[in-house]
Amino acid sequence: MPTLRQVLYGDVNFLEGEEYLAFQFRFLTILMLAGAVVTGLLLLGVATGVNTIDTLHVVSMAIFMSLSLLLWLVLRGRPHLLLKLAWLYECVCMAEYISALYMVSADEMRVIWFFANLPGVYILLGQRAGLLITLATMLGLAFGNPYLPQPYSINAMATLLVALFYLGTFFHVYGARSMSYFVRMRESNQRLRHLASHDPLTDLLNAGAYYATCDQLIHLAQRNHQPCSVLFVDLDHFKKVNDTYGHEAGDIVLKAVSKTMLQMLRQSDAVGRIGGEEFSVFLPDTDLVGAIKLAEHMRGEIENLMPQIATQRIRITASIGIATADQVGENMAAIQRRADQAMYNAKQLGRNRVSCFTAA
Ligand code: GH3
Ligand code: MG
Ligand code: MG
Repeated sequence: MPTLRQVLYGDVNFLEGEEYLAFQFRFLTILMLAGAVVTGLLLLGVATGVNTIDTLHVVSMAIFMSLSLLLWLVLRGRPHLLLKLAWLYECVCMAEYISALYMVSADEMRVIWFFANLPGVYILLGQRAGLLITLATMLGLAFGNPYLPQPYSINAMATLLVALFYLGTFFHVYGARSMSYFVRMRESNQRLRHLASHDPLTDLLNAGAYYATCDQLIHLAQRNHQPCSVLFVDLDHFKKVNDTYGHEAGDIVLKAVSKTMLQMLRQSDAVGRIGGEEFSVFLPDTDLVGAIKLAEHMRGEIENLMPQIATQRIRITASIGIATADQVGENMAAIQRRADQAMYNAKQLGRNRVSCFTAA
């Protein structure tokens, strides 16, 4: 049983940062449906004799109602069409307002629809379109007035134009303000999300974000029946680097090593700094043979890196433990534990080497 939301909007999903698009999408949906319903009620009034309207305008209203429903159906579930459909709907609305202006002389207030139109234009089409349509409406009313069957008086027209100008200016300023707040809020949310998931020194994923990413990648790999492997990289005698050259020198080394590792990896791999001088690399679609090859290459690159500390270059080495996912339903913590044991083994065997986990 579909919910009311699904009926109105279709199946739509908006990502973080798309809050304004979601608002615009819902706004246009409601606008189209409200347009169709209100026009339908007015047509009902005509049909039951409560309201007498020129036949030509009744036809225009029927077309407007049908187009509102049709455009709503096209919009349902397709937020990517929002801008095009919003422009199209604005043209349809304008045609309907102009039809009323010429054909429903008995209603002195029909010009109100040109005013009611402006907020939606600013929300859906933005500042520039809003300004353009405000000016076009003012010029259209001023120059079209003498041709109306019953033109508005000079006084009435002056009031209308000033009010339109006021409304347009108000929405322009207000829209610009709220848009800039929204953009800044979105940017600061992005910055906060980045800070919460990344290590500030190396800009790699922090432990929490890394393990969460890996668990997702493992699910994906298991669904696609692909192998995946983990490399656990621990720098050798790193404490000595700090003790000999200072903590800042140690930081420079950590940054240089993480940059080197990143350069060697694919976009689809994940890498995290999970401890002080400990990194973990997740390799989707990589079996043990592929993982050993990459780990050996990585070990060599780290050894050849020779980062510059003050006036000298120092030799840094790493021990790398490898584990592959071999059981269905296994999580990252279990694979990481095995990679940890393999890394410990590499340390035991003399460091600066690659070791694979074996059950023995
Ligand atoms: P092993 O070869 O057995 O791994 O020896 P190790 O000295 O690398 O191992 P240990 O775990 O004893 O030392 C890790 C050191 O890493 C301890 C700490 O001073 C240093 N460290 C941890 N985080 C940071 C950091 O953010 N910056 C710097 N400069 N050093 C760090
Ligand atoms: Mg360590
Ligand atoms: Mg170490």
